[in-house]
Amino acid sequence: MLPDQCSVLEDGKQCINPPEFIVSIVSDEDEYMVGVTCQKHKQIVSGKVRILQNEGKMHDGKISFSPVKSVGTDCIHGDSDDFIQIDMNRKLK
Ligand SMILES: [Zn+2]
Repeated sequence: MLPDQCSVLEDGKQCINPPEFIVSIVSDEDEYMVGVTCQKHKQIVSGKVRILQNEGKMHDGKISFSPVKSVGTDCIHGDSDDFIQIDMNRKLK
């Protein structure tokens, strides 16, 4: 179910690193998976999610990173179709 690569695009190319963290948004009682990232792109993903939240395109809540290995995906809502793609070339407002 999880993608096997980091969600970041660099120069139009998918980052080839394997995902090391599951990015999720924790709000009240729920947790929504929004993507996966490698160690290198963790900060970028975090910043991008915050921007999307500010634009109302993402659930409100705290951004959380869980190491891929330790996550039981059963208790997290989400579908890989909902995952964000982070294009490094797209100008951030
Ligand atoms: Zn990456």
